[in-house]
Amino acid sequence: MDKSFDLKGKRIFIAGHRGMVGSALVRRLAGEDCEIVTVARRELDLLDQAGVRRWMEARRPDAVIMAAAKVGGILANDSFPVDFLYENLVVQTNVVEAAFRSGVQKLLFLGSSCIYPKLAPQPIPEDALLTGPLEPTNEWYAVAKIAGLKLCQAYRRQHGVDYISAMPTNLYGPGDNFDLDSSHVVPALMRKAHMAKLTGQKTLQVWGSGRPMREFLHVDDAADAFIWLLKTYSGDGHVNVGSGEDITIAELAGTVVSVVGAGAEIAFDLTKPDGMPRKLMDVSRLFKTGWRPAYSLRDGLEQTYAWFLDHVEKGDIRLGAA
Ligand code: GDP
Repeated sequence: MDKSFDLKGKRIFIAGHRGMVGSALVRRLAGEDCEIVTVARRELDLLDQAGVRRWMEARRPDAVIMAAAKVGGILANDSFPVDFLYENLVVQTNVVEAAFRSGVQKLLFLGSSCIYPKLAPQPIPEDALLTGPLEPTNEWYAVAKIAGLKLCQAYRRQHGVDYISAMPTNLYGPGDNFDLDSSHVVPALMRKAHMAKLTGQKTLQVWGSGRPMREFLHVDDAADAFIWLLKTYSGDGHVNVGSGEDITIAELAGTVVSVVGAGAEIAFDLTKPDGMPRKLMDVSRLFKTGWRPAYSLRDGLEQTYAWFLDHVEKGDIRLGAA
């Protein structure tokens, strides 16, 4: 059976096109001979099941990429468990079910590396899923994403549709959330380093011990991998998407300070959580297909900092107290 999905002339619905991942997918698909379908939040609330069914029935996309999600960093996830569990469960279920009802044959569901057990073997292979307890600081989001991945498998098995899942590692890049209370580590450190540079502040506060290790992937590389999978992958199992390399949070902080040109000393705030000790993905399934990321971490951070500066200048990102 030919597993390839030709995008030519297809109508591709990107759910969540305003988010960091969704907007990267819009940029990436602009180079393909396909029609990109999106919908504004004020026109369609993805929490509204009947509304999503009606909209999908009217627009009838050929394929769906599920990039809409309630996302946040370690503190937000831990502080708003209902938002992360309920919203993600409902939105993803609505989109996947409505897609099936309206005859969508190809769907790509996006999850996250936090679906894996806290103490999974490193690098984490796809089959480590559901082999142990989750990291408590992100289990709400993780449980929702595991349910989404399983829902796609269920549709595949019961109805024979080509619904696939990809699990990206920690992503960063243009369009990220730079709000310190809810952001992930890269935008948080970039903003803090930038403020330190502006104010001449001598120390930069890094949450936790600095010892946890994380793998990072630029969102444009992630979008490229997702489109590659949409075109070429058809299988029951989900696919890890990452760079294959990780660094400590302390090392990341040093690199961000250097990219920003801040010259501040790094201090560790041990009152904040570390979260998962390590979550390096085993990306051999993806890399065996020949796909590789284009950005090094340093280049990706420089590109992201340039975007940040541009959006601070435009007033899209407001800098209050650091
Ligand atoms: P996680 O990968 O789900 O844990 O998400 P985060 O990106 O929020 O955090 C990654 C790691 O960076 C954790 O060990 C955090 O404690 C650490 N970290 C250090 N400084 C910060 C910060 O200012 N904001 C965030 N969100 N994390 C930070």
